[in-house]
Amino acid sequence: MSPHKTLEVKNLKKHFQMGKGKSLKAVDGVSFDLYKGETLGLVGESGCGKSTTGRTIMNLYTQTDGEVIYEGQNVHDLSEKEQFLLKRQMQMIFQDPYASLNPRSTVAEIILEPMEIHRLYASNKERMARVYELLEEVGLNRDHANRYPHEFSGGQRQRIGIARALALDPDIIIADEPISALDVSVQAQVVNLLERLQEEKGLTYLFIAHDLSMVQHISDRIGVMYLGHMVELTSSDRLYRQPLHPYTQALLSAIPIPDPDIEDQREQVIIEGEIPSPIDPPSGCVFRTRCPFAMDVCAEKAPVWQEVEHGRQVACHLYDDKVVDPSEREKHQQKMKVNVQ
Ligand code: SF4
Repeated sequence: MSPHKTLEVKNLKKHFQMGKGKSLKAVDGVSFDLYKGETLGLVGESGCGKSTTGRTIMNLYTQTDGEVIYEGQNVHDLSEKEQFLLKRQMQMIFQDPYASLNPRSTVAEIILEPMEIHRLYASNKERMARVYELLEEVGLNRDHANRYPHEFSGGQRQRIGIARALALDPDIIIADEPISALDVSVQAQVVNLLERLQEEKGLTYLFIAHDLSMVQHISDRIGVMYLGHMVELTSSDRLYRQPLHPYTQALLSAIPIPDPDIEDQREQVIIEGEIPSPIDPPSGCVFRTRCPFAMDVCAEKAPVWQEVEHGRQVACHLYDDKVVDPSEREKHQQKMKVNVQ
């Protein structure tokens, strides 16, 4: 059975107007599908547009262009009432659970709020029973219900954020750097919790993180973003074994490998310089100012986002037969090989 596409993101753009006719192109034409029950990791350096992509999908930002299709329906074509109902299906977990939880509300009030807004359950008694159930599901208990967020550790606060996200029984959770602010020892506990909940409830995750090592274990597939663009998307396994885009190679070669034999064999792809401003991005390929393999054509036209092998999309002229002869590509690939077997 082929996997079920639950969400399709097509050519999504979010530009922020900056005055004087300038705009900040935070997301500039991102396309990907999300399959039911999978975890898609979205990674890239700070400022690459990954969080803005998540927030634009959630309609926390109004998109500049493109389409977000949930279960075959373009979410921006829906009536206000339909959009309100759709909010139940997609929920978000944030990086800083403390900032996203109202400090003046008790844990019970925080988890009750979305249920009250969406008028779930017939009585307050039933809603409270659900609050206790959710607390148990995320590894807390009913004694925590009447306490305030400041009484909890970072990891516990993230558990409260997860309980709130689950209150509406969603299909999709967009997790925006949910473990980045936590201690390393707590990160694994939160990842384990998210994995268990996914298995129990059939959840689909879009898991946003700033480095590849953070999403490696949790993701079925990984999308790599750079300066508002998706540059590579494939299975987690293939991305780690043989990254194709020069930016993915650079990100991966920066992750230390504990095995010294492999570490010795691995060539480093070093990228230099700062990420350019999304207000004035480079012409053609946005990565060209830092790409060690840039060619003349890279300044002239933007690479097409295309499937270069089954289940792998890349935006780079090196993998476009119309731009680079396949025999030339071989030479490049030898030069670019990052051995992470
Ligand atoms: Fe590098 Fe050119 Fe590929 Fe961009 S299109 S990543 S500049 S080789």
